[in-house]
Amino acid sequence: MIEISFNGALTCVGASAILIDTGIEKIVLDYGTKVREVPPKFPIPINGKPDYVFLSHAHLDHSGGLALFEAKGERVPVYALNCTKDLTELLLHDSIKVSREEGIELPFSREDVLKTLNAFENVNYKEEIKIRSGKVIFFDAGHIPGSAFIYLEVNGKKILYTGDFNTIDTRLINKCEKKLPEVDILIIESTYSDRNHPSRKSQEKELISIINETLARDANCLIAGFAVGRLQEIILVLEKYGIDYPLYLDGMAKKATTIITKYKELLKNPNELEEALRKVRYIHSIKERKRAIKQPSVILATSGMLHGGPIVWYIKKLHKNFLNSLILTGWQLEGTPGKILLETGKFVYENLSFDIKMKVKRLDFSAHVGREDLFKFVKKLSPEKIFCIHGDHTEEFASELREKGFDAIAPLANNRIFKID
Ligand SMILES: [Zn+2]
Ligand SMILES: [Zn+2]
Repeated sequence: MIEISFNGALTCVGASAILIDTGIEKIVLDYGTKVREVPPKFPIPINGKPDYVFLSHAHLDHSGGLALFEAKGERVPVYALNCTKDLTELLLHDSIKVSREEGIELPFSREDVLKTLNAFENVNYKEEIKIRSGKVIFFDAGHIPGSAFIYLEVNGKKILYTGDFNTIDTRLINKCEKKLPEVDILIIESTYSDRNHPSRKSQEKELISIINETLARDANCLIAGFAVGRLQEIILVLEKYGIDYPLYLDGMAKKATTIITKYKELLKNPNELEEALRKVRYIHSIKERKRAIKQPSVILATSGMLHGGPIVWYIKKLHKNFLNSLILTGWQLEGTPGKILLETGKFVYENLSFDIKMKVKRLDFSAHVGREDLFKFVKKLSPEKIFCIHGDHTEEFASELREKGFDAIAPLANNRIFKID
């Protein structure tokens, strides 16, 4: 028998955390935060010390709570790809910095983060990790560099936890692993269970045409994106269509890019990225920012949801001029300045609140599987039992799956622990 508890990402995105208790071992899959809540929210605490954490990828909604174990004095080995370790280090330190700027002290210290990083164990895709209850294997999830499906065979049960995944190739990385083992229990993300993505090509073309039109007006084009994966993807799109204008990169994406380029084996075309990066100028100071916006240029900056980071500086400088453009390249979480801007045309962040005159457009360069492929993925695996998490519509998704004959459930706060024989 095993017991599976869902300690986060229940009917929402954020604070992913799953506990699998095999009777002899406690196995934790991801331990994230609800990033955009101030202060950030952590998963429901795990009862007792876990034996292992297996980490699907570096994004804070999966990794942001990892240092809480060290803060409690628990040394727990964290299994992940090396690339995930490096990106997690960057994001955890940044989360402490951002919280301090907001006047919040997180319940763990920089020292706890360092100790957590020392407890990491390297995993490679398709490598078997033996544990007392059975074995664990990571497969490429195609979401960001280093992202993984986590497959477990414990007490005779075959479990697949998808983490976040993508079934289509992007310019940066390949799609997820297609040859997966048979699965009894599937724990699946549901971010886009309610909608399909527009074609990549249409989004790329629109991006390029906005840039061309903006530059033709002698204006600045500001592109907001996530530091890990997204802005590197955008750089590759720009390279494909030819970069013959000043192109700048600002914010945490600089360090994330340096990490990602280290792991060539995880990239679809590392040489192309290297080639493209030669045309990108990194911004390190306010003086350089001022210089960058003095001429027609394209500026890539974090944060992707306009919630802090250098993008705020650029918006303040550029928003009054209707010739300038602002492109959002990702999904905007409810309540973030990005979402508020799309709904109201106003930029609202901390003590700032003003109307934006520059052109604003959101494009979809999502790294998550879209609705149609999500259903195809489930059908192909045809597991005995499905748990739907990590999405705003997990209950609708589970009910649609039940209509198709699957045994599916969306764990809820009052129904989140399941015993499986
Ligand atoms: Zn993710
Ligand atoms: Zn996620």
